[in-house]
Amino acid sequence: MVRPSKGRTRRWSVRLRAEIDELLERVAEERGISKNDLLEAIILEWAYQNGYNKILHFNFRNNTITVWDSLLNATVDLVYEEPEKILYCTYCRSTKCGHIWAASRLPEVREKVRRGELFIE
Ligand SMILES: [Zn+2]
Repeated sequence: MVRPSKGRTRRWSVRLRAEIDELLERVAEERGISKNDLLEAIILEWAYQNGYNKILHFNFRNNTITVWDSLLNATVDLVYEEPEKILYCTYCRSTKCGHIWAASRLPEVREKVRRGELFIE
């Protein structure tokens, strides 16, 4: 998958306990993304849950919900495919992330969950 262009980026370093670094390493490998991208996904989730980020637009097509992430300044596709129909974020490569958390609060998505058209883990 091609990740959206990140535009301007900044580099900084962070000191973590070895146990935390190893956990990040393991989860990044499981998801098939870099540790940097995993950290970004974690920060995005924090930003959504604390009101620092929001979905500006969203669109349904086939089994995809496309959301516009204002911090990323990019679209992110959330897909739900047969037979499980569990919502999966193609950006974070996860069934649990800030995009899914924010999407789960949209009335249109809640309605699809209520009708059993898709599931959120
Ligand atoms: Zn995501």
